[in-house]
Amino acid sequence: MAADLPTGQPEELIGRFGIETVLLATIDAQGRLKGKEYDARTLVERLRSGALKPEMCGYVLGTDLSMTPPDAGPFSWQSGFGDVTLLPDVENARILPWLPGTALVLADPVSGGCPHPLAPGTVLAEQLHRLVRLGPVPMVGIETEFVLYEGTARDVASGWRGLRPAVGGNGDYALDQPPAVREFGRRLRRHLAGAGLPVEAVKGESGHGQVEVTFPYGQAIDACEQHVLFKHAAKTIAEEQGLTASFMAAPSTGVGSGMHLHVSLHDCDGPMLAADPAHGIELSELGEHAVAGLLTVLPELAPLWAPYVNSYKRFADRSFAPTRLAWGRDNRTCAVRVVGHGRSLRLEVRLPGADANPMLALAAVIAGIRLGVAEKLTPLPAVGGDAYRRLDAPLVPRSLEEALARFETSALAGELLGEPVVAHLARVARMDLDHHAARVTDAEVERGLAQA
Ligand code: GLU
Ligand code: MG
Repeated sequence: MAADLPTGQPEELIGRFGIETVLLATIDAQGRLKGKEYDARTLVERLRSGALKPEMCGYVLGTDLSMTPPDAGPFSWQSGFGDVTLLPDVENARILPWLPGTALVLADPVSGGCPHPLAPGTVLAEQLHRLVRLGPVPMVGIETEFVLYEGTARDVASGWRGLRPAVGGNGDYALDQPPAVREFGRRLRRHLAGAGLPVEAVKGESGHGQVEVTFPYGQAIDACEQHVLFKHAAKTIAEEQGLTASFMAAPSTGVGSGMHLHVSLHDCDGPMLAADPAHGIELSELGEHAVAGLLTVLPELAPLWAPYVNSYKRFADRSFAPTRLAWGRDNRTCAVRVVGHGRSLRLEVRLPGADANPMLALAAVIAGIRLGVAEKLTPLPAVGGDAYRRLDAPLVPRSLEEALARFETSALAGELLGEPVVAHLARVARMDLDHHAARVTDAEVERGLAQA
């Protein structure tokens, strides 16, 4: 029923849903919504009349997690921190039912009248454009994990350390979750459906307090925007319930949260990945090229899908996060799992962590698929059985330091993304590396204080 649509012209949403507040936001390098809050009617009037040309300090696109600007480049102190212009998608305002009386207008950063070349959405759009020019159009479904804790760092006297996982044991597929976790799942599903972004399913995962959410297939950019909004919803709903939702890739030893990207490819004749699209489970030649491209390119572009020092602690032996760059048919020990049947046959890329910006992680995946298809690359044979023990398969990068050294010097990365994008993302990643290199951790002290 059109009258109930949660997206559209903001004037209609204001009347229909009693919207008082509009968030005008863009997406930062970390995949977070950043922007300002406005009185809904005033903002809409000013945007419509042209009295407001929204802008935002451009450094939002270039800081680290803690909003520290880099030492060099277009978002550094040398830049003078000028504004970037925002191009708001006013016609597609969306209500955010998890915030009372609030709607969102997403805006693209622009520079010189063009999409800002370093904005995550532009990086992704460029890769999509190049792949589609070759023929295949991707469809994307995102599956993400996170950990729910009881308490919030503000309420608990000992801060983050005092948080306890909201589920006490391995809750994989559990349907007897504690009431607070069940209620969280219910609110998350209801609020996201209310925003026109229904989840496919919510499921208990194996880490203590871990939850997995899957989303229906969609267009690549829509799937990523949905994921950014979902994270905002999950964090907000959790806090309202006195819980904390963490998307760290490895919030504690032995717990890893992934963001698996499911990708299928289509042309006007239909799905392209299955050799026999009616019911087959074998990959087409094009599918094999895509797999080969992914396994070639992803290790070169690791900071796009594993952006922090912590991201690499997730790649632990037999943790269901991959440690080897291998692929296999319905094999969860591999970095790329071929899954589904016939028309739904797809590639599940299991490398990205829940901490990654979905737009950048997907840009790396699309770049890999394109290279594989364009160059008709052939993968090594698929792995059956335990890929963690396939010592012949290359290792997933083991640290941000290793990943960054490879990324910064990779001719392939420069060719695929362009040097300015590589330099920008390398600067962002290096800030996290430097942050940790300058600090002594609890684990170091525990081991070394008395014994060294
Ligand atoms: N937690 C695993 C990861 O970090 C994935 C578990 C699963 O197969 O869903 O990727
Ligand atoms: Mg999972």
